[in-house]
Parts: sequence; C-alpha cells; structure tokens
Amino acid sequence: MGSKQAPHRLSEEEPSRKPLTRFEGERHEMIELLRKRGIRDERLLKAMASIDRREFVHSPFVNRAYEDSALPIGDGQTISQPFTVAYMTEALEVNKGDKILEIGTGSGYQAAILAEMGARVFTIERHMDLLTEARKRFDKFGYQIASKCGDGTIGWKEFSPFDGIIVTAGAPDVPRPLLDQLRDGGMLIIPIGDTELQTLYVIKRIRDNFETRETAGFKFVPLIGKKGWK
Ligand code: SAM
Repeated sequence: MGSKQAPHRLSEEEPSRKPLTRFEGERHEMIELLRKRGIRDERLLKAMASIDRREFVHSPFVNRAYEDSALPIGDGQTISQPFTVAYMTEALEVNKGDKILEIGTGSGYQAAILAEMGARVFTIERHMDLLTEARKRFDKFGYQIASKCGDGTIGWKEFSPFDGIIVTAGAPDVPRPLLDQLRDGGMLIIPIGDTELQTLYVIKRIRDNFETRETAGFKFVPLIGKKGWK
C-alpha cells in the first residue's frame, strides 16, 4: 500500500476556485482563441463568455459547441463560427443602448450576444421554424429581442434608423434599403461576393455618403430575398 498524501492546504495567495466543468473549460479556451486571433473588445468577449453556445446548437452537435466552426441548425442553415461572430460584432462597434438590426436570426446566438452587450436588438429570419426555436431561447434566457419572420433584405423600416445593421448571410450586392435605414454615423456589416466566398464589408454612413472598407474573406450561406439571391 502506498503512503497517504497529506491533504493539500490552500495558502492565502491561492484563492479557492470551483474547478471549471468540461464545457466551462472549453468556453474559456474558445475565448482565449478569439483573443489570440485578434479580438480585443472586452465587452464582446465577456458577453461571449457568459453565453452557453451549447444551448444554440442541435443536440447531435452539443459536444462540438465550443469548436471554432459553423454547425448545422436545420433547414440547410448554420450557426456561424465563433470567430466570425466575434469579428463581425467587433466591427459593428456596439454601444450600450444602440438599436441594432440583425438579418438572419438562425439559432439566435448572434442576437443573444448583442442583447448581452446591452443593445436593443431587432432580428429577421426567413425560416419560421428556425425563428420559433430562436424565440424559445430568447424567452428561456430572458432576452427582450424583437423578431419577425420575413425578408431581411428590405430591412425593418418601422424601427429605423438603426445604429447598426449586421447581415449574417452572404449577399451579391449591398441592399439599398439597409443603407437607407442606417442613422448618420451608423455601421452596416455585410458579406458580399458569390455564393461560395464573400468579403466582409464594413460600411459607415456619413450623412448621405457611405464609407466602405473591405476586410477579411468568409464563407456564408446565401442571403435570399428581393435584394439578395433569388
Ligand atoms: N446569426 C445566426 C446565428 O447566430 O445562429 C446565423 C445565421 S445563418 C449563417 C444565416 C441565416 O440567414 C439563416 O438562418 C438564413 O435562413 C437567414 N437568411 C437568409 N436570407 C435571409 C433573408 N432575406 N432574410 C432573413 N433571413 C435570411
């Protein structure tokens, strides 16, 4: 028989922390990876650290929820990769109380992050069954998010102007109604390209001019609608 080890005693410098569960550990690693890949907005990282991505993925993929990858959510759609969500949200420069329109609710993960950052969120999804699931999640976690089923390429005029608009599907061109529904100084984040690959456009409205910056390449599902893909 081996000798018994003396119990490990905590010194004053060693705070007694509850060990992280497997998934908390994985979420922590996801945040560290986002930092390593250049995400700097601490309010965003805090929001992403406080939301359990497992709650937004389909049950067969729960074990992969903290991988940095897009995962299927039904209807041939996906929840975006955490890095993509972080990159786009950082580009949006969200302030507390900002009115933000999201096109492409999907699982509701992106909308939940925006709400967690203190934004007033409006979101549009074209698939009713995806929206129904996302709404259940908003209710479960107490997020006050306005949502509707419809074609987001024409925006949501009744609630415009928006401080920011984020489009989470790839478009052939920038839909004019979205530009028109930005306030002066507002930002539009939208992937533009063909159905395979897109470049993320960061557009700032300055009175009636639109300053466009082309950033990184991404791969999104198509934005389908009147001002998107047919
Ligand atoms: N933001 C989502 C999330 O956090 O899970 C991921 C969105 S997924 C990559 C893109 C979504 O855009 C899909 O759910 C798709 O049905 C939706 N979509 C495509 N065209 C749309 C349109 N014209 N209006 C609204 N939603 C649209």
